[in-house]
Amino acid sequence: MLKVENISKAYNTVLAVDNLSFEVNDGEIFGLLGINGAGKTTTFRMIIGLLDMDSGKITLDGQKIDYNITDKIGFLTEERSLLTKLTIKQQAMLYGKLKSMNEKDILQKLDYWLERFSISEYKNRKIKELSKGNQQKVQFIVSIIHEPKLLILDEPFTGLDPINVKLFMEVIEELKQKGCSIIFSSHQLEHVELFCEKLVILVKGKTVLKGNLKEIKHDYQKKNILVKGKIKEKEIENLPGVLSIKKVNDEYLIKIKEEKYIKDVFKVVKQSDDITKFLVEDASLNEIFLDKVGEAYEK
Ligand code: ATP
Repeated sequence: MLKVENISKAYNTVLAVDNLSFEVNDGEIFGLLGINGAGKTTTFRMIIGLLDMDSGKITLDGQKIDYNITDKIGFLTEERSLLTKLTIKQQAMLYGKLKSMNEKDILQKLDYWLERFSISEYKNRKIKELSKGNQQKVQFIVSIIHEPKLLILDEPFTGLDPINVKLFMEVIEELKQKGCSIIFSSHQLEHVELFCEKLVILVKGKTVLKGNLKEIKHDYQKKNILVKGKIKEKEIENLPGVLSIKKVNDEYLIKIKEEKYIKDVFKVVKQSDDITKFLVEDASLNEIFLDKVGEAYEK
């Protein structure tokens, strides 16, 4: 279990991370979110011990993170961190040895993952000669080859096509099942929504939203109603509690302030005898994110 307690870090006058706390249990995927410059990379660097924090405490399974336990951590960075003149095999050897693995083990694991990601034929090819997506696969492989206890994935799906995104997702899910604690960061919130049980949203280093994703979505007051059919658009638009109504493909998307306004919308909709769908949904994480980040900027 990773425990981050009240950590802060300033670069001169910029407070990059401000009193951040969260926990990631074994077998849990945690989302660390924020727009550019929010403090995510600074947080990751403090977790892996690359950067000293000004205050606070970070422990993995109760142990302070130092050189003794970095072998238990895997980090897939947003910026590519591969040595591109090396072949995949050389790269894996280097990373594996840095994580205290023996050669036999590294080669065995490497063969397994190359096969799994359908790139076995490139084992002796230089990284710079690989496509962007295949380089991303190698980045992923070297971050998990030592079976880390804690895995940090910063924009892991960069450069991947949808089939490979699915494959990465399957592997991440398997690592989770095996008990790995995973921190996931992505600007593509639909991915976060699929994966993460808990999350934190940072704005300029400050925590503006934290908690269980299902609860966050449930507690968020605004709801969406999807309606298919002929409706009195203007009448609905003018109802109290209706924030907006727009047509998306052949459906209407009606955003309302609170759950209590559903019945008023329904009253108008049911006047029509041409309705094939009336569905109430929680807002998407994307909407919640935009709202929370927007609010924080207005303060
Ligand atoms: P992105 O999504 O763009 O990667 P981020 O959430 O990872 O952003 P950080 O890179 O942690 O954000 O940056 C947080 C703040 O700290 C920003 O204001 C940034 O300009 C500042 N910062 C980051 N690294 C340094 C540094 N080495 N020196 C000075 N300021 C820094």
